Amino acid sequence: MANIKCKYCNKIIKDEPYKYKNTNYCGETCANLHEKQKKNRVALTDYIQEIYLENGYEKDEINWTLITSMLKNIQQEHKDWNDAQIRYVLFYMYEIIQVNLFDEKSNGSILALLPFYFNEARDFCKKQKEIKDAVNEFEFDDEVIVIKRNNNRRYWDDIDIGGL
Ligand SMILES: [Zn+2]
Repeated sequence: MANIKCKYCNKIIKDEPYKYKNTNYCGETCANLHEKQKKNRVALTDYIQEIYLENGYEKDEINWTLITSMLKNIQQEHKDWNDAQIRYVLFYMYEIIQVNLFDEKSNGSILALLPFYFNEARDFCKKQKEIKDAVNEFEFDDEVIVIKRNNNRRYWDDIDIGGL
């Protein structure tokens, strides 16, 4: 019998595989992580699409071949950058410091400049978390929090951004 590999961690499954959505995993943990990974990929590509649409592109004008190949390159070069983190960096570039993602340096993809902003976005994220913790700690009334949210064009929902 051919070896069955876990779809998430690629290890050969020695015991009975854990089945989820017709896919083999070594256990529930790997199945959950894979689901989370798929969800984060969809959230990232949805967000990329949203940015293009907001900037006057039509859906069929978005070069997904280029975008997915750039994502692959970025993640091959930086193996610890996951999709949720990349989405956060894009959010930081687009919403917070408002980098022009569509100028000539972008080479036709809004991801071209992303690696240059990763550390800056990570620092910003850490600072935001500290502010949020401080806000929670002092139990500011809702008004203060609302003002803080309005300063950002869009409020970044709490997502698990891994090692950021
Ligand atoms: Zn596994």
